[in-house]
Amino acid sequence: MTVMFERVALIGLGLIGSSLSHVMRRERLAHHIAGHARSAATLEKAGELGLADSLHSTAAGAVTNADLVILCVPVGALGAVAQEIGAMLKPGAIVTDVGSVKAAVIRDVAPHMPPGVHFIPGHPIAGTEQSGPASGFAELFQNRWCILTPLPDSDPLAVRTLEDFWRACGSNVEMMSAEHHDLVLAITSHLPHLIAYNTVATAADLEKVTNSEVIKYSAGGFRDFTRIAASDPVMWRDVFLNNRDAVLEMLGRFSEDLSALQRAIRWGDGDSLYALFDRARSIRKSIIAAGQETPLPNFGRNQKPEG
Ligand code: NAP
Repeated sequence: MTVMFERVALIGLGLIGSSLSHVMRRERLAHHIAGHARSAATLEKAGELGLADSLHSTAAGAVTNADLVILCVPVGALGAVAQEIGAMLKPGAIVTDVGSVKAAVIRDVAPHMPPGVHFIPGHPIAGTEQSGPASGFAELFQNRWCILTPLPDSDPLAVRTLEDFWRACGSNVEMMSAEHHDLVLAITSHLPHLIAYNTVATAADLEKVTNSEVIKYSAGGFRDFTRIAASDPVMWRDVFLNNRDAVLEMLGRFSEDLSALQRAIRWGDGDSLYALFDRARSIRKSIIAAGQETPLPNFGRNQKPEG
């Protein structure tokens, strides 16, 4: 792959920012990577790991002369970062983000983008429950989807360039409106995280089952919830504050369906339970068929026998 950008600025060097650095290095997508993180500790770690060719204590310093700027900070921090960098952006630069919510990001970032700068929001549907500069790896985006939500007046050439960049990182790319993105992700990502956080919290609050029993006898289902609930609390707080309407809509539907399940259990309606479980199982099969999950038992992890 030929170098696509002379200078790329990564604002935020956590899981996503450091993974982008690794894949850009591997594919030689940038001559120079400029990096910025908020804390001295992250900047120091980024230096040790060689995540950037130059490290900057301010976002404005990192974006100077950059052809591509990728904002990799929590959604709630994007408005302030955009305000800080606006005046320093090079005319013709592409600015994108990786935030898990899109409409609120456009609301917060777009007003700070000067004319001649191409702001094209994005979201790689790829992640783990890890965070920080040491958690990234070059394969994170491989064969995963990256959703771009261009604005109605986005320059088609800039959109195409960003699409090519994500494909070079290993992703498949899809375009949709920010509103549609937020609705889809509310059910596929945001609601599952909310349920996981709540399930783990409910178990932790039980009075008749001690915490040590919850840990000792944690069956596969609960352990999978704890993995999801180990995700970064700042990131997820910001997701729920910024995708409120779509999450509340999906939560309403979920609560109705949960009530129906509750009723089926109460009345011993095995047919309804079976029909729903069978339908749900077929969804997992289609995710595996689409290459987005492994068919191996226990998600391909080494499995200890369970009692
Ligand atoms: P992360 O590992 O926690 O890293 C966040 C980075 O942002 C760190 O470098 C942090 O700097 C910096 N930062 C935090 N608050 C800041 C602020 N107020 N001003 C400036 N910099 C700040 O997070 P991540 O998982 O990479 O997530 C980054 C973005 O990617 C989020 O918008 C998230 O929604 C999105 N995303 C995440 C995933 C996922 O699974 N994790 C998947 C797709 C998209 P310090 O370390 O110095 O504090």
